[in-house]
Amino acid sequence: MGDAWPIPPFSCRRRANFGLASVGLPWHTNGRMEYEAVIGLETHVQLKTHSKMWCGCANAFGSDPNTNVCPICLGMPGVLPVPNAEAIRLTVLTGYLLNCEIPRFAKFDRKNYFYPDSAKNYQVTQYDKPSTANGWIEFEFDGPGSVDGLARVRITRAHLEEDVGKNSHFDRFSGVDFNRAGVPLLEIVSEPDLNGPDMAYAYLRALTDVLYRGGISDCDLEKGMVRCDVNVSVRPKGATKLGAKIEIKNMNSFSGVRRALEYEIPRQIEAVKRGETLRQETRRWDDLAGITEPMRSKEDAHDYRYFPEPDLMPLAPTDEWLASVRAQVVELPLARKRRFLREYGLPDGDAEIFRDNLPLAGFFEKAVQGASQPKAIANWVINNLQARLSDSATAVDDVRIRPEQVRELVGLVEGGSISSKIAQDVFAEMFNTGDSPKAIVERNGWSQVSDVGALEALCDQAIAANPGPAADFRAGKVAALNALKGQVMKLSKGKANPALAGEILERKLRA
Ligand code: ADP
Ligand code: MG
Ligand code: ZN
Repeated sequence: MGDAWPIPPFSCRRRANFGLASVGLPWHTNGRMEYEAVIGLETHVQLKTHSKMWCGCANAFGSDPNTNVCPICLGMPGVLPVPNAEAIRLTVLTGYLLNCEIPRFAKFDRKNYFYPDSAKNYQVTQYDKPSTANGWIEFEFDGPGSVDGLARVRITRAHLEEDVGKNSHFDRFSGVDFNRAGVPLLEIVSEPDLNGPDMAYAYLRALTDVLYRGGISDCDLEKGMVRCDVNVSVRPKGATKLGAKIEIKNMNSFSGVRRALEYEIPRQIEAVKRGETLRQETRRWDDLAGITEPMRSKEDAHDYRYFPEPDLMPLAPTDEWLASVRAQVVELPLARKRRFLREYGLPDGDAEIFRDNLPLAGFFEKAVQGASQPKAIANWVINNLQARLSDSATAVDDVRIRPEQVRELVGLVEGGSISSKIAQDVFAEMFNTGDSPKAIVERNGWSQVSDVGALEALCDQAIAANPGPAADFRAGKVAALNALKGQVMKLSKGKANPALAGEILERKLRA
């Protein structure tokens, strides 16, 4: 492999010329050579449909083995598949969510192989004419390869195929459960744009977040709805040519992917440093042992004898249909965070809470309409509403408070009608009763005292009862005013207008 590599970086050549340590060794075994990992992921995701891809059997998890099966998904001779329109819609919608092109012609192909997980001895997939291609996903990631905390990974394609059965191995026999056979499966192939375990992990999180938010898949890893083949190679840092690709098959957890890469990348680098030539192969991750081990040398496409599926028509979506699917694209988390930063001027932390909590974000957006202080509304929604929701295990959609009532409450505080302390009590009552803040304030006589005459009396009382702080303030200790202000608030049961009370106190003490 050394011959195939491009010119080594300068430091290597220099060491090869002068360094005693490297005398007699080819340059690529130099211990100082730096390597980088190149990773591309093939992610399989089960689509959220009621029925399977070609038959009416339920797409359900957890049923007794071989109860959701019929002659079609069992691959009996002579049966004909009927494509699931919903699965095709979800595939194209995924294409839009991942910024893909949607070709006007797509088709299905047979990938032939012999293994007990497929009763048909082939898997229907999309080989050379997939339903979506050439997209990208952007996600938050801090690390090498990111710019301003964002990374972008190109999506080669997202194509539709069918899942296969599940083999189980027992003490004395093996079994196949065909409940999963024929479940619509999306394969999302990334370009080799990932550079390490953390970036691969962040990508998987972001991708499944998009698919979950987009209503494409429940992405339940526990139920095996997301499975991933990890392709990884290493090369000298900065080289353009890719190294030999090692594929780690069938990973079913994201932390597993990260751990497998944390093992596999140094393994490959060490091997190359020893002067070994890596060959394309398929490996298996042993989660208990924490190692990858060889499975088989990698098969090529021609081994599968792909050919067009004769029982299914090609797909030729119309403009009209494509437009209707495109209209179903929802706002994705990252886009929402950016919009909340831009439109409402919220700090990062607030925007991230709304990024991750769609119902809460929806509530906020209704509450903030026409409000002059988005930040104040966000504070109420995040600090008060969210806390009470989790305390009472209530969903945002079931809450009694209406969004515009939060806006009203903020208006009452801003306008000086109630103090922010009283506003807390008003909010509690709003949460419990659903009544408007104005009604609650009136009912309880909680209007803020901004009446100068009434406040003067309270200030006189406070000064008389607290000669110490009064004397301190007169002696120049400005901070002593707070103690007196606190007394006024207490005497007024929290209703005094604090700013006004402070002014009056100061005027009286300086007199
Ligand atoms: P195959 O046809 O064998 O599945 P592809 O070329 O279609 O191979 O690539 C499959 C996946 O492997 C893609 O995600 C791609 O980005 C990734 N990949 C391809 N070559 C390499 C490489 N040398 N190192 C790491 N990943 C690679
Ligand atoms: Mg592959
Ligand atoms: Zn069936």
